[in-house]
Amino acid sequence: MTELSDKITKWYLENKRDLPWRKDKDPYHVWISEIMLQQTRIEAVLSYYKRFMETLPTIESLSKVEDDKLLKLWEGLGYYNRARNLKKAAIKIIEDYNGIFPSTFEEIISLPGIGEYTASAISSICFSLPEVTIDGNVLRVYTRVFEDDSIIDQEKTRKKIREKLMKIVPENSGDFNEGLMELGETICLPNGIPKCERCPLKDLCLSRKHKTSLKYPIKNPKKDKKTEHLTVFLFIKENQILIEKRMEEGVLQGLWQFPNMNGVMSKKDVEEYCNYQNIHSVKIEKGISYTHIFTHKKWIMDSYIITLDNKENLGGIFVTKEMMEEAYSIPGAFQPFKKDFIKRT
Ligand code: SF4
Repeated sequence: MTELSDKITKWYLENKRDLPWRKDKDPYHVWISEIMLQQTRIEAVLSYYKRFMETLPTIESLSKVEDDKLLKLWEGLGYYNRARNLKKAAIKIIEDYNGIFPSTFEEIISLPGIGEYTASAISSICFSLPEVTIDGNVLRVYTRVFEDDSIIDQEKTRKKIREKLMKIVPENSGDFNEGLMELGETICLPNGIPKCERCPLKDLCLSRKHKTSLKYPIKNPKKDKKTEHLTVFLFIKENQILIEKRMEEGVLQGLWQFPNMNGVMSKKDVEEYCNYQNIHSVKIEKGISYTHIFTHKKWIMDSYIITLDNKENLGGIFVTKEMMEEAYSIPGAFQPFKKDFIKRT
């Protein structure tokens, strides 16, 4: 096992990618990058990270940012609660730690939005604390190297692997953790054939020896996602479109959206709805359809473009495409409708 940690660390120091948050070990930089990387690949995160740091270069600036500005910086990354938690944690760091990022695992994990994985990453990379990070990459590499048949979605598997790795974590724990994750991202690939010939663990790896690497990691069979149907209303007046804020609860809470209703509606249903609501439409036409996949459910959405003859009080605000681009964060589920509106104006 110690051979594994030596090989990983050496390989990482010789092969690590040049990434902006690796230029120093500043916990603010590592923290923001780790939260951004939780659902998105490195290539996609680079531009978000650059824009975020240019706008909010310090913990103090993050603690004072307006919510809409923060969510706009996050637009496209999804999981907007993560952005809200960044601000909450920044406020806590200012209030409880005089603006200095805390340096113990217990303090770091007590910050809003920081779980075991992120706390371990920051603790090891920035403060060389003996912690290990367990993510999908690490689980894949580990189960392949040891031909481990455990189901990786189970908490007890993560716990077991964490305990095993804690026994071999070296002094430069950050390089070891980043090395394991980087190996999983660039060599021991999740989809497709792993590049075993370039792997520092090839002489230790049982699945390479037995040609079983594609069998690992073993996961629970996926459950079907719950399906919901939505009808989206694109109320348009001249070159402006109506947006409204979602409620402060449930999925996409507090974000801007186009008005919508649950269920499938025909054009006749929409006409009746407009009449009933006293909405004076000039024209109603069918717009695009789009299916958005969340972690646990999917939305199948149809849209109607409802051209209005005046700006009625419909409960939201009318915005131009420029206003939407600059100031209002529209979540991914509604982005295709935004793009369609932009194309039409
Ligand atoms: S030898 Fe191949 S399967 Fe084994 S850890 Fe390396 S890349 Fe993965």
